[in-house]
Amino acid sequence: MNDTRFSSDSERARVLLAGTRDTAMKHLSQLLGTRGLHVPVLASAMDRFVKSLVPLPGETACKTGCAWCCHLRVGVSIPEALVIFHEIRAQATAEGLAFLKQRILKTSDRGDILDENFWRRSRCPCPFLDMDGTYHCLIYGLRPFSCRAFHSLDDTACRRGYDLGMQIQVPCFPVYRASVDLYSSVLIQVAAQKGLASFQVGFIRALEILFTDDTAPDRWLKGENVFLSAKIAEFTLD
Ligand code: SF4
Ligand code: SF4
Repeated sequence: MNDTRFSSDSERARVLLAGTRDTAMKHLSQLLGTRGLHVPVLASAMDRFVKSLVPLPGETACKTGCAWCCHLRVGVSIPEALVIFHEIRAQATAEGLAFLKQRILKTSDRGDILDENFWRRSRCPCPFLDMDGTYHCLIYGLRPFSCRAFHSLDDTACRRGYDLGMQIQVPCFPVYRASVDLYSSVLIQVAAQKGLASFQVGFIRALEILFTDDTAPDRWLKGENVFLSAKIAEFTLD
């Protein structure tokens, strides 16, 4: 076993990820500094981040219609929730918006959607998962970074986690996953540096707030702690 090579590969990955994170933080901080704290500015930053994502380094087991992973809790930064909501509102018809709102509220009514264990045990589908038999994501092009990061090299592991209602280690490309996930952390950290109440939130709870309170985006951008009730507590897995 060549431990020296292993540690040098890990070190290379660590340096690469730190460099990507620092560049993204600098870019976002400068952008918000020059153009101000507004949803379209956050949208433009997110768009740039999505375009800069590295490709998957190899084949995965993921394919359209496979959606065991769309029955798990999704954590996002508040800027992601704001931008995704903003885009949904811009693109959807009035009927489409009403449909999504109703799905989100119905999901929220089912239990404690901030609790990872709720999703695993109830096998509750994400409200954006189309349950018409095709099981595709209704907001695929807009999906959060954690959805973009999640993948598996073995779909039976995903299926087993779903069937057992518990956390199962899913084999993946860890550096790729970390390289996509980091953009959510960058958005959280830079927003906090700008004086905003910034932390990881449950995607669906944050959208519930946005769908039911038109004033939420502006109040958050002015520094109010509007999304406190959507905050994800750390270490919530059983
Ligand atoms: S992560 Fe697992 S459940 Fe999700 S698409 Fe890939 S193989 Fe399917
Ligand atoms: S937003 Fe889309 S990709 Fe993410 S969990 Fe929901 S349905 Fe799946």
